[in-house]
Amino acid sequence: MPKVTFPRMGESYRAFRMLMNDLGNEVIIPPRPNKKTLDFGVRYSPEFACLPLKILTGTYVETCMSGAELIITSGGSGPCRAGLYGQLHKKILNSIGFPVDIIVFEAPKSHPIDFLRKVKRVNSSRLSYLAIWECVKRGWEKLKYLDDLEKTTHALRPRELKKGSTTKVYREVLEWIDGAYAMKEIHEAGKEALNTLKLVPHDTRRAVLRVGIVGEIYVLLEPASNLEIEETLGNLGVEVHRSMFLTGWTRDNTVKETSGILSVKEAAMPYIPLCIGGHGRESVGHTILYARDGFDGVIQMAPFTCIPEIVARTILTRVSREHNIPVLTFFLDEQTGKAGMSTRLEAFVDLIRRKKNAPVSDNRIIVG
Ligand code: SF4
Repeated sequence: MPKVTFPRMGESYRAFRMLMNDLGNEVIIPPRPNKKTLDFGVRYSPEFACLPLKILTGTYVETCMSGAELIITSGGSGPCRAGLYGQLHKKILNSIGFPVDIIVFEAPKSHPIDFLRKVKRVNSSRLSYLAIWECVKRGWEKLKYLDDLEKTTHALRPRELKKGSTTKVYREVLEWIDGAYAMKEIHEAGKEALNTLKLVPHDTRRAVLRVGIVGEIYVLLEPASNLEIEETLGNLGVEVHRSMFLTGWTRDNTVKETSGILSVKEAAMPYIPLCIGGHGRESVGHTILYARDGFDGVIQMAPFTCIPEIVARTILTRVSREHNIPVLTFFLDEQTGKAGMSTRLEAFVDLIRRKKNAPVSDNRIIVG
C-alpha cells in the first residue's frame, strides 16, 4: 500500500484522507504547520520563495520523515510560481535524501487526459471509474460540511455570549464529521454538527462589524499560516467573510465559475483586465464586491514576495479610495508574529468602527 500525503489546508485533510484511503492508499496525515515545520521550510527552500512554498516544504519534510512516498497536490497556471511548486519540491526533497515522487493534478477542464492518467496512478485498489466517482462524491459532501461549519463559526464568534465557546464546540463537532463514512452517515453527522454549533449561546441582535478577507489561497485556507486571523477578528466582534473556500475554488476550477450579478473578474476588469497569476485579480474583484455589499472593511492576506498580491496591493489603494472601503494588507513571512498582527487588527477595527459611527467621505487606508 503506497504511503501518500498532501498539503494541509485547514480541515480539508479529513475529506482527502477518506478519499485516499478509499483508493487503497495509506495516508500520512500532514501535521498542522508549526514552528518546526517553518524551520524545515526556511532551511530547505530558496530564501526569497513565498511563504506557502516554505510551509509546504516543511510539511513535506515532516511527512517524508514519517514515511511518505508519494505527494499529491494541485498545480497552478498563469504567471505565478505555483505552477512550478511540484518540480521544485521534488528536487528539494530528493536532494536532501527523500526519494519521494509528486503527482500534480492540473484543472481537469483544461487537462482532461492528464487528469485521468493521474487518477489511475493514485487508484491503488484498481477501483472502476464508477466506484471512484462514488468515493469522490462522499469526499465532496464531507468537504462541503467542513466549509459550512467554518462559515457558521464566522457568523457566531462575534455574537457568542461566552468568549471561546464557538471554537470549543467547533473542535468537538469536527470529529463527528471525521468519524462518518457512508453517505447517509456523512449527512447525519454534518446536519447534527451544524445544528449543535448553531446552539452555541449567542446574541443575534448584537451589532457587529463585517469584514471581507481576500488574498492568496494558501494563506486564506490554512489558519496556521495566517496566525488564526479569523478567530482573532471574531473575538474582536467582527463577522468575517472569507472570499475563498476549498469547495468554491474546486468548483470554479473543475466545473464552471460561480457568478452572481457581477462576477469577481468583471468587477476587477476596470483595474486588472488580465490574469496576473495567483489570486491577485480575485483580491481586487472581491474587494469591490465587498464594498458594494456594504462591508465595513477588507483585509488582504499576502505572502511576502507574492507578485500577484503585490500588484493587487498597489491597485487596492485606488480601489479603497474610489469605493470608499478601508483596506488593510498583511504581508506574511516567517517573521510575522501574532502579537504584532493583533495590535494592527485592533487599530483597524477601531478605525472602521469609528468610520461606521461617523461616516466620512475621505477614506483612509492602512498600508501593510
Ligand atoms: S500566488 Fe503568490 S504565494 Fe501563491 S504561489 Fe504564486 S507567488 Fe507564491
